[in-house]
Amino acid sequence: MSNQSFRILSNLRRLQLRQSQFRKYGPAFISRWQSTTHSKEERNRRLPDDGVTLSHFISNSQSNSKPANEQGEDIGPIPISAPLGIESSQFSNRVLKFHLKTYGCQMNVSDSDIVRSILLDENATFSGNQISFEETQEEMDADILLTNTCAIRENAESKVWQRLRELRAHDNKNPLEKLTIVEAEEENEDRLENAVRFGKKKKAQKRKRIIGVLGCMAERLKEDMFKDGTADLIVGPDAYRDLPRLINALAPKPISTTGQPLYETPMMERALNVELSFDETYADITPVRANPGDVSAFVSVMRGCNNMCSYCVVPFTRGRERSRELESIVEEARILYEQSGVKEICLLGQNVNSYHDRSENAILTNPALETAGNEDDHSKKDIYKAGYQTSNDGFSNMFRLRGGAGYYFVDLVEAVSNISPELRVRFTSPHPKDYPPELLSLMAERHNVCNHLHMPAQSGSSTVLERMRRGYTREAYMELIDDVRSTIPDVAITSDFITGFCGETEEEHEDTLSLMDHVKYDQAFMFAYSMRGKTHANRTMTDDVPDEVKSRRLQEVISMFRTNIQIRNDELEVGKLRLLLVEGESRRSKEGARTWGGRTDQNKRVVFPISGETPECWSEESVRPILNALNRTYPSNTMIRSDLFHDFARSPKVEIQAGDYALVQVDDARGHTLRGKLMWRASMQGFHEMGLDQSDLGLFGSLLTK
Ligand code: SAM
Ligand code: SF4
Repeated sequence: MSNQSFRILSNLRRLQLRQSQFRKYGPAFISRWQSTTHSKEERNRRLPDDGVTLSHFISNSQSNSKPANEQGEDIGPIPISAPLGIESSQFSNRVLKFHLKTYGCQMNVSDSDIVRSILLDENATFSGNQISFEETQEEMDADILLTNTCAIRENAESKVWQRLRELRAHDNKNPLEKLTIVEAEEENEDRLENAVRFGKKKKAQKRKRIIGVLGCMAERLKEDMFKDGTADLIVGPDAYRDLPRLINALAPKPISTTGQPLYETPMMERALNVELSFDETYADITPVRANPGDVSAFVSVMRGCNNMCSYCVVPFTRGRERSRELESIVEEARILYEQSGVKEICLLGQNVNSYHDRSENAILTNPALETAGNEDDHSKKDIYKAGYQTSNDGFSNMFRLRGGAGYYFVDLVEAVSNISPELRVRFTSPHPKDYPPELLSLMAERHNVCNHLHMPAQSGSSTVLERMRRGYTREAYMELIDDVRSTIPDVAITSDFITGFCGETEEEHEDTLSLMDHVKYDQAFMFAYSMRGKTHANRTMTDDVPDEVKSRRLQEVISMFRTNIQIRNDELEVGKLRLLLVEGESRRSKEGARTWGGRTDQNKRVVFPISGETPECWSEESVRPILNALNRTYPSNTMIRSDLFHDFARSPKVEIQAGDYALVQVDDARGHTLRGKLMWRASMQGFHEMGLDQSDLGLFGSLLTK
């Protein structure tokens, strides 16, 4: 036997051994080899000392079936590596195509951008193997079908199950090309030798696509997701760095590249890594956005949630709160603004305004004050930094108090808004407890921090809020609404509501309707309660509101929202000048009736008709002299006006592009979408400097819209 054949055979034997171990110990073994870089002691040292205990999050985060030998001893990690004697260059031209579909919230969209970045990283190497990935938008063109999932409600999960079944059925009908696969069996070396040397004992097999489930549902259900045979790969939200290695284990490997290529059966049939992390923030990964041309970008600033609201599965699927370093966030936002044409950054996190960067650098730069709490010596900001402050005294953290040195959310918003006065800053999804006065003041001061606060109430009843473990009463929440409206003029307030939570009475439901009627929200996301496993409600309460009652109450809150938003938009928006960040042609735009659209500071969508292919209007430069003069002299100095109008009429019109700011006069409201007339292209700074009064437009307004 030649040396070459001998080497290949011994490699194959190693692989077969691993395969048989896998078959013996089940798919879960791969999760045990999660490539954590910290020892147990190190990880414990790195843990923040606030919040709930670790066991809340990790007790069920690991697979139940650990790899063990027949005596039940832990056999430890089984690394996957390139077979000896096969050069890694043989794998380097192996390109696998993946298709990625995302369900759920913005965090999932942002996580998919991280997954894309990990897979497209040319330098992704692991254990000596190297494969490269390519994204495809065509499902049936892909080798790997990834679905990033949401577990927040049962119907979100049902959609995913349905998709997985459809994908498998589709794959069975339209398999990938046939591969010549060598069936490697440990005890049959001769057959293998022949197969490798002479291409005998080989058979052409249909290659199945790898179906992978990522995200919250993967984390919640773990191995259970393998049960109906549709999924091959399960990866939780903190394990995305492991994806290339896991996919490598599932893909058939080339064992000979000369002559007719031969492939070995994949090392594993199924692979799983659902380990939650205490410090993974993917801070060093530059996300690859699905739509790089979008004028808005999401930047993930923190992960996980410590709140443990009694209905919510997020703390179990996303783990503990951890924040990215402020500097890395600002850098990512700066690059998006300066190099990718992004004009709006939305800071993202499950409880985004509970952000707290406690890295060494943050602690040195922003130490806690020794005299915390002494209002005579320090500004409110100092006190906030020294000791964590809730929105008002009626709010509490459900778990231990936080505080101490480092950067808080207000520092982050300030730092990102400093990048440029032309860059808008938003954030989602916040908790109402984390709106300290300092943050509200900053939002009021800065034109580029959007006047929009999401304040998920969930219920208007203090007794339901207590059962939900939200940490506030109806009264504290309403006091905060008053503070917000008196501090930030023209602010839009939005919310989430759940109907039919455990034990909800008609009276408690009426409290929700009356809160909605009182606040008059600018947008609301409303859901019927869906009981989730592991949550406090699941363990201690009964899901006793019948489905038809939940649905009827849901319809009532939806109709309360709709009635109020129409009244509010008719009163506050119609006739008003709004500065839009133009996003491009509207979805419903069609030949002969073209419309473009964008969003206001208040996050309201406005569409405006255009006459040609692209919008054209006046520029800020040509409008400014007239508006300045109108402000100072109207109506007495008609000479100035006629001179200026003469110049204005001769000035050229400019084209509007996605990413421009433009002034629109709103002339109609249909529910929560507004329609308007395009006035002029603006800059955010210019618009605010002009200090425009809505009544300035007068006759000039109708001239502008011609
Ligand atoms: N962190 C935000 C907060 O504190 O309100 C909410 C984020 S949560 C991912 C999004 C929304 O889903 C929640 O505000 C809540 O209204 C809804 N939700 C969460 N769990 C739910 C459940 N079990 N049934 C119905 N809706 C639920
Ligand atoms: Fe879920 Fe939001 Fe409560 Fe966290 S704060 S547990 S994400 S509802």
